[in-house]
Amino acid sequence: MAGKQKFVSEITDMDKDFAQWYTDVVKKAELVDYASVKGCMIIKPYGYAIWELIQQQLDKRFKETGHVNVYMPMFIPESLLEKEKDHVEGFAPEVAWVTHGGKEQLAERLCVRPTSETLFCDHYAKEIQSHRDLPKLYNQWCSVVRWEKTTRPFLRTTEFLWQEGHTAHATAEEAEEETVRMLNVYSEFCENVLAIPVVKGQKTEKEKFAGAKATYTIESLMHDGKALQSGTSHNFGDGFAKAFGIQYTDKNNQLQYVHQTSWGMTTRLIGALIMVHGDNSGLVLPPAIAPVQVMIIPVAQHKEGVLDKAYELKAKLQEVGRIKVDDSDKSPGWKFSEHEMKGVPVRLEIGPKDIEANQAVLARRDTGEKVVVSLDHIQEEVTKLLTAMQKEMLEKARNHREAHTYSATTMEEFTKTVEETPGFVKAMWCGDEACENKIKEETGATSRCMPFEQEEIAKTCICCGKPAKKMVYWGKAY
Ligand code: AMP
Ligand code: ZN
Repeated sequence: MAGKQKFVSEITDMDKDFAQWYTDVVKKAELVDYASVKGCMIIKPYGYAIWELIQQQLDKRFKETGHVNVYMPMFIPESLLEKEKDHVEGFAPEVAWVTHGGKEQLAERLCVRPTSETLFCDHYAKEIQSHRDLPKLYNQWCSVVRWEKTTRPFLRTTEFLWQEGHTAHATAEEAEEETVRMLNVYSEFCENVLAIPVVKGQKTEKEKFAGAKATYTIESLMHDGKALQSGTSHNFGDGFAKAFGIQYTDKNNQLQYVHQTSWGMTTRLIGALIMVHGDNSGLVLPPAIAPVQVMIIPVAQHKEGVLDKAYELKAKLQEVGRIKVDDSDKSPGWKFSEHEMKGVPVRLEIGPKDIEANQAVLARRDTGEKVVVSLDHIQEEVTKLLTAMQKEMLEKARNHREAHTYSATTMEEFTKTVEETPGFVKAMWCGDEACENKIKEETGATSRCMPFEQEEIAKTCICCGKPAKKMVYWGKAY
């Protein structure tokens, strides 16, 4: 297995330098390449295949909850962006501007959308007249641009791919229901498809989306104990409606403002997959999101009948999953480590001796376990393995998160925990932004969310000692 050693030794040990390990995996698993513009990325076929699976499975859930897809322009006239005060203030520092068309200066600058609330609102103001026009449940798949200062492939890029849902409702209650509904769609997707457990909660005033009344978030914990905001759902109340004049006549013929929401998930999720499940051999993909679920590797493929058998197995297994045969002329050892690096959930080895014994070897990517199975039951065995792996990867990630979730009741304890044992720290808070800022300055931890599932760890704020209003999850974050 000399080939394997060489290939694997090229990635950094994740326990020595997690950041470098991440960069190595992203490159070696052929997910991205760096682009000519700083902070942008070229998503390669394997990375894009993961994104397509994310898209398909999220889109299915959006359709099931009544949403339809639309497409808005990528440019926002400056005057439109400025209509909602908090929103423009929040986004102005990271907006890219188009000032010229060819050689001619534009009469009005156009921003490249950092998010499309303003475009949807402008459109909704024209579209919505009566209560019969509601609710409007739109979503769009596109890319957005935010001029980020520090960037990292998938986690924070200047341009990223995402979906943005934008909805308008007759009442505040309906908007609130929608905000929570979509957060639940996100969390269910993360847990069941990505095998990533999440904490659901509300962002503090300081951390909420520019222009929102309330921002709900799902927070996940990476292998190195850092948190990642993995998706957000915003309730805008009628703030945007008032700024854009989005009104409808209700059943009593009264003019009312609509209540709006928006929610988004991005290519950042691929970063989460890498950092939650990956190991020192590379990426580990949960079967539900793996572009190739089983890689068939013929052993001694030049021997008569081996490749034929491999193709035959592929045809049979295609009924139960996404299957490929690696019939390239690389050595089996090389192939093993290459597909390990790419996180392929199951490797199926088939050689002359196996064929003689009517069997194959199945190797699991996450545990490394190998089983010999009869070819008579190959479909059932593969299905069983993929199902078990999906479930156990979530359990493992959940155990990791539980083991790295701490609580603190004094500032001293809090600081020590953040420094020595990276993870989530649960602590009480008075609700004052000054305390939130102080905690960040002194420890580097930010408020991740006020979880929906509250616990009373203490009666007083960890920072100022005043009566506590909320239990907050804190942590260093990506
Ligand atoms: P927002 O519209 O700000 O609520 O962003 C929606 C989601 O996009 C956030 O919850 C993040 O998970 C993700 N996100 C924000 N900025 C970036 C970025 N620069 N690159 C990738 N994902 C991002
Ligand atoms: Zn306080």
